[in-house]
Amino acid sequence: MFADKKLSNIVITSIGLTTVIPILVVIYLIKPDVFLKQGVVQAAPIIVIITLIIAGSGLSLLLGVSRSIAELSKNAGIIASGKLVQQQDNREERPRSEVSGLAESLNLITEQLIFNVDELESKAILLERTNRELENINAKKNEFVSTVTHELRAPLINIKQCAAILLDEDNMGYLTLEQKEHLVLMKNNAERLIYLIADLLDVSKLDSGKLHIEPIEINKVIVDAVSMVEHWSESKGMDMQLRLSYPNCLINADAERIRQVFTNLLSNAIKYTRLRGRIEVYDKLVKREPPQEEDSAENTKKEKKNYIEVSVKDTGIGIPEEDLKKIFERFAKVAHPDFVQAGLQSSGLGLSIVREIVRIHGGYITVESRVNMGTTFTVGFPVYEAENADGKNKTD
Ligand code: ADP
Repeated sequence: MFADKKLSNIVITSIGLTTVIPILVVIYLIKPDVFLKQGVVQAAPIIVIITLIIAGSGLSLLLGVSRSIAELSKNAGIIASGKLVQQQDNREERPRSEVSGLAESLNLITEQLIFNVDELESKAILLERTNRELENINAKKNEFVSTVTHELRAPLINIKQCAAILLDEDNMGYLTLEQKEHLVLMKNNAERLIYLIADLLDVSKLDSGKLHIEPIEINKVIVDAVSMVEHWSESKGMDMQLRLSYPNCLINADAERIRQVFTNLLSNAIKYTRLRGRIEVYDKLVKREPPQEEDSAENTKKEKKNYIEVSVKDTGIGIPEEDLKKIFERFAKVAHPDFVQAGLQSSGLGLSIVREIVRIHGGYITVESRVNMGTTFTVGFPVYEAENADGKNKTD
């Protein structure tokens, strides 16, 4: 029945009026004399009976429609609230009409939705569990790599030192050419493995995602990195020039990792430049859009930000254009047949580590190179611009 009593009265009155008035009109048109004084009295029972029949069937129709609409609206409410529950299957009990058919369709849609939601929920649970398992496996892998590399490092350092001691003829006595060659090979290989282990340790540290992020003065980190490789560049008679114009520029970063970026770039610059070459390190402030993630399909314009760009430029052997793309991949090495340097250590991991560190700090790296003319690597990091940086961050 109708929930609202007022509505129910209005509906009954409307049915009465809409059925009685047309009947009276039809009777008047067919037999106007019925409405004469005695005619009305004679026809009164017929009119009342017809009116009752039509009103009864109209009311029953309306009640059916009303029930179906009430059910429809109840189901729609349930769907809208998101609390999907299985509807009772009482489709057999009621006669079919367009509205009850619609209600049934709605029930079917609800059932399908319940099924889909259940399926999605169980898939989400499965995905979460798999994700947790993968995280555990990754953590175990990082722990394993870190333990193994630590264990390997110490004996390799001993082997390298022993080879170096044996090669010292002043203390150890005369060596044949063959003995010398074997010892040099042993020392170089031990050194190569020590470098590889250091790089693998860096990769596993990066993979474990442990970073100590805080506002740091980038130029101090660069000066530190330069001092770490200076002895090497001096031993090759190189001219190292440092031109940093933004001494107070802050970036929000892990200082240790940023130092690693510059020691890697500087080491490469020294490694791949002939004796008495030149290395320049300089910075620049730029305003640009944030770099786009490589695997992101997103192509929306983002708000421009300030970046501090630092370039490491050398006058070395350069990189052929076709190799420029692959040098950032893990274990990528470029063959330099006419550049042979004793003890040249190379793991092919350095630049991939640099690129990953730059990426996780929201920065970017670019390279320009010409064979036999030199190479310039440029890294950019977002400038830390917190209001409360005590005016330290005077970058312009
Ligand atoms: P590696 O340990 O071999 O130096 P990197 O990932 O640091 O590994 O570099 C990958 C390759 O890129 C190197 O093998 C080298 O061929 C090339 N490369 C990197 N830096 C320079 C540079 N400054 N000049 C010339 N070639 C370079």
